[in-house]
Amino acid sequence: MVKLTLIQGDITKLEVDAIVNAANSSLMGGGGVDGAIHAAAGPELLAECLTLGGCPTGDAKVTKGYRLPARYIIHTVGPIWRGGQNHEEQLLKSCYENALKRAEELQIETIAFPNISTGVYAFPKQKAAEIALTVLGKYAQKHHTTLKEIFLVCFDDENYQIYKKMMNNP
Ligand code: ADP
Repeated sequence: MVKLTLIQGDITKLEVDAIVNAANSSLMGGGGVDGAIHAAAGPELLAECLTLGGCPTGDAKVTKGYRLPARYIIHTVGPIWRGGQNHEEQLLKSCYENALKRAEELQIETIAFPNISTGVYAFPKQKAAEIALTVLGKYAQKHHTTLKEIFLVCFDDENYQIYKKMMNNP
């Protein structure tokens, strides 16, 4: 079993094996959590990202964590919300699933997720939380994994309240 833990705060500060970045498909950095991660990890991160050739929406790629307390960064590209008829839900589900796949390949024990796509990409927060908790909740039942704890990191209060309610009343 994997423990699911909700916290509110800045994902760049966490001492975990890997943090997940809500990147854009260029992997060249951006605003929001992506900007915070690049700023905290330092310029070596951008240099490694430039070697990766971008990342398709829904997929996930790994870099080192550089100056972060986290050893690795798993960069995933969430969908931009365009009304909901453009595979947004399936793509967001793929982000969580593919990030977990990368975590398994790295054989790590702890990972932290931000609320992918719920900032500039405007995915409705309640719907995004349902997708995240469905994928992560299902994964947490697994026995054959090196992962021991998954942190759900909410930065803004609105997401934190949504997750708190959903995790107390599943
Ligand atoms: P996207 O483009 O995928 O929407 P954003 O970075 O704009 O990405 O927003 C994704 C989520 O990340 C939002 O819920 C936002 O509140 C959150 N966020 C912003 N900065 C941080 C941070 N330092 N740590 C954790 N989460 C953050």
